[in-house]
Amino acid sequence: MREAMRRLTLRPHHVGSPYDKDNAEWLRDQFKSYGWDASIEEFQVLFPVPTERVLEMVSPTKFTAKLQESALAQDPTSNQKSEALPSYNAYSADGDVTAPLVYVNYGVPDDYLELERRGISVKGAIVIVRYGGSWRGIKPKVAYEHGAVGCLIYSDPKDDGYSQGDVYPKGPYRPADGVQRGSVMDMPVYPGDPLTPGVGATKDAVRLDRKDAATVMKIPVLPISYGDAQPLLAAMTGRVAPESWRGSLPITYRLGPGVARVHLKLAFDWTLKPLYDVIAKLPGSQYPDEWVVRGNHHDGWVNGAEDPISGLVPELEEARALGALVKQGWKPKRTIVYAAWDGEEPALLGSTEWVETHAAELAKKAVMYINTDGNGRGFFGVGGSHSLERFIGDVQKDIIDPETNLTVWQRAQAQAVASGDKKARGEARDRKDLRIDALGSGSDFTPFLQHAGVPTLNGGFGGEDGGGIYHSIYDSFYWYTHFSDTSFVYGRALAQTIGTAVMRMADADLLPFEFGNLAETVQGYTAELKELHTTVSSRIAETNRQIDDGIFTATNDPRDPIAAPKSEPLAPALNFAPLDNADGSLTRAASRYEKAYVTAIAAGIDPKTIAAFNELVAKADQALLDDKGLPKRPWYKHLLYAPGLYTGYGVKTMPGAREAIEQKSWAEADVEIGRVANAVQREADLVNRASDILEKKPRVQP
Ligand SMILES: [Zn+2]
Repeated sequence: MREAMRRLTLRPHHVGSPYDKDNAEWLRDQFKSYGWDASIEEFQVLFPVPTERVLEMVSPTKFTAKLQESALAQDPTSNQKSEALPSYNAYSADGDVTAPLVYVNYGVPDDYLELERRGISVKGAIVIVRYGGSWRGIKPKVAYEHGAVGCLIYSDPKDDGYSQGDVYPKGPYRPADGVQRGSVMDMPVYPGDPLTPGVGATKDAVRLDRKDAATVMKIPVLPISYGDAQPLLAAMTGRVAPESWRGSLPITYRLGPGVARVHLKLAFDWTLKPLYDVIAKLPGSQYPDEWVVRGNHHDGWVNGAEDPISGLVPELEEARALGALVKQGWKPKRTIVYAAWDGEEPALLGSTEWVETHAAELAKKAVMYINTDGNGRGFFGVGGSHSLERFIGDVQKDIIDPETNLTVWQRAQAQAVASGDKKARGEARDRKDLRIDALGSGSDFTPFLQHAGVPTLNGGFGGEDGGGIYHSIYDSFYWYTHFSDTSFVYGRALAQTIGTAVMRMADADLLPFEFGNLAETVQGYTAELKELHTTVSSRIAETNRQIDDGIFTATNDPRDPIAAPKSEPLAPALNFAPLDNADGSLTRAASRYEKAYVTAIAAGIDPKTIAAFNELVAKADQALLDDKGLPKRPWYKHLLYAPGLYTGYGVKTMPGAREAIEQKSWAEADVEIGRVANAVQREADLVNRASDILEKKPRVQP
């Protein structure tokens, strides 16, 4: 793994670079040498790269931002400027603007409410916003919606830098001129090539005009280091920022707008670039038309050792080991498909275009997609379809954690007991299965789960290895082998965990899906929706009462006078009955299924029953899709899991209903509760049909 990482990170390997293609060809040949049938699948996608970047302060003093990360003598790949992408945000607009600065904290919608209450507008301004608190693409989107003409995103050392620990190369944290590159495409609307939503970006695909692509950002956006941000922030005038907004630079954080004005000029080359997805297959011996798919991306922003190569080299190890088993006579029952995706960093390009191209085939054949994206040291964290919660927990019980010699499951349990709130701690102690997370976005699982309805897992080790090299030139072999999983023992543990999951799923007679945990989880989401509705309702009522009474404690602080909010109409009641009923159906169906499953295995099952059962159960997540998709974003079809429209990577469960309640769109909330209730009911029906098959009951036509 160490040598594979060294090889793959030797030169910058972003989309369109020579070494990206070189890596893809090398990966294909590695899979072939392990005995796999491997090839490269190509797409043509919109991927902008900068041709001009200027950031300068024009008043009260003149300052030109460096926009460069320094090479370090210790780190041999930090000196490849001619080949590396400069620091930028992909899918920013071209632009040339000069405007006053306004500091907007993390730039989430609530931050703008705070500014409004202080009478501060960002209209016509360039906002300066810190990384953190939301996915980066949300920041310019919300800034644009509030009338800003440009956006600078910087890494504050409080969140990412010397406040955390020693900076690179002395320690693992972000140095003063380290910059976080990254995409600002509006991926919560749809990921993948902006010009081909819903279809594969093949050479002859019908493409949108760039001006019609909804996901391309509308204003210029540039990420900067805290070295470059400090003089800008220090020059700002206006009110002092609220305490929770202040970072740890040695300055007074002020909100502006005031004397500090900056000039931001960005231009990009918008030509199409090639993508090289590596796809490798081991044919199934009994069920060749059922696929277990596993992937990790291979492209990086620069050298990308931690992100993504630390997850890719365990994948290669799995492939090598599975290939060796095949040579010894093992025949997986199902077809195993291993993928190394290109273009994850800009917009999940390689996985999305592949899923869109093969959508019909995946709907028929895919029984699971399992994703990783980098790996570190510590605890195994996993998220995905809750019908696979027990399955992935059982896998973790059979893998040994390299540091503690506990099982990976016991270590994760100990962590959950030590770190959660009281309820979570009790659960971690007593519940049969450890909970898995719901998935939002941020990696290649998104098209599989949220667009195609393939049952999905995403996992990796982490939690013990801090760092601040994310998406910078310092995410290198030198950094990884000095500060992360330096001896690759967690790389081995990842290969063991994911490899075991793949083998089990490929060889199970009855697919190992379980629905009791899903039913319980869905009930939990329903309870959260009700609580959210209650909270939002009582907050409106309470605020209205305070307005009537003229009580506003915040207005009493003369240093920071805040205007009173406006009164709002009260929230109506919502009808949760259909959802409660559907949850009840799923719970009953799940407990019937559990008995039928155990009984059938004990009694022995004929091949025809197995085939019928598997064909149905593999559609467990497809039953939770709605072809119309989510409000304002039809590409996202899963009604249980989606990235938040205003949080980005962060998950929203039962997203249609939850976001409608958050946004106080009450009529839409009622409709969305009905739609998710129907989805849960479809799932209950599917689970009952699976029990019918196992119990050999003839299917009753509805
Ligand atoms: Zn990644």
